[in-house]
Amino acid sequence: MNLSPIIDSNLEERAAKAQNPFSVCPEEILSSQVLVSIQYWSFDNRLHRGQIVTHQKLVEDILRVFKEIEKKKFPIQSVIPAADPRFMWDDNVMMKENNTSCFNYRAIEGTTNLSYHAFGCAVDINPRLNPYINKQGIINPTGATYDPEIPGTITENSFLVRLFDSLGWEWGGRWKDSKDWQHFQKQI
Ligand SMILES: [Zn+2]
Repeated sequence: MNLSPIIDSNLEERAAKAQNPFSVCPEEILSSQVLVSIQYWSFDNRLHRGQIVTHQKLVEDILRVFKEIEKKKFPIQSVIPAADPRFMWDDNVMMKENNTSCFNYRAIEGTTNLSYHAFGCAVDINPRLNPYINKQGIINPTGATYDPEIPGTITENSFLVRLFDSLGWEWGGRWKDSKDWQHFQKQI
C-alpha cells in the first residue's frame, strides 16, 4: 500500500509569495507571510499534501486547525497558494476549483477595501461547497449551492467552527447581511 501523500502543491517560498503584477503587495506585508506545508484527506479518500501562505502570527493556529482536519478526515479538495500558476491570484478560479487558501493581496469583492486575505489573516475552506452569498442572493462562485449534508461543508455545528472560535477567529457564516461560509478571519 502506498502511504505517501499526493502532492497538490510543492512551491518554493519565493514562488508562493510572488507578486501579483495587478495588485502589488507592500514589502512589509509580504515579508510577514510564511509558507506552511499541511496534510489533509481529499475527496478521493487519499492523503494529500498542500501548502498555505499565512501571516507569521497565525502559523500556529493554521497548523492546529489542519492537524484536526487531518485527524477527523474532514475532506479538503486542495490547498494551493493563490500565486500558483494554476490560479494566478484569481479568487474566482480558486473558488470554482474548490481550492482552500489564505494569503492573497486583494480587495474585498465589489469594494476597494483590502480583504483580511491581503494580510494573510483569513482562510477560505472548500469555497465551492461553502460559497459566498450576498444580501441580494448573488452566489459566488457562480452556480454553487450550499448543502450542509455534503461532506466538506461547514455549518454552525462543525468542529471547525468550534475550533476556530476557540482560537479567536470570526466565521463569515455568522454574518448578518451576507454569508461567507468558506471564510474565517482573525484580527491580529
Ligand atoms: Zn475569504
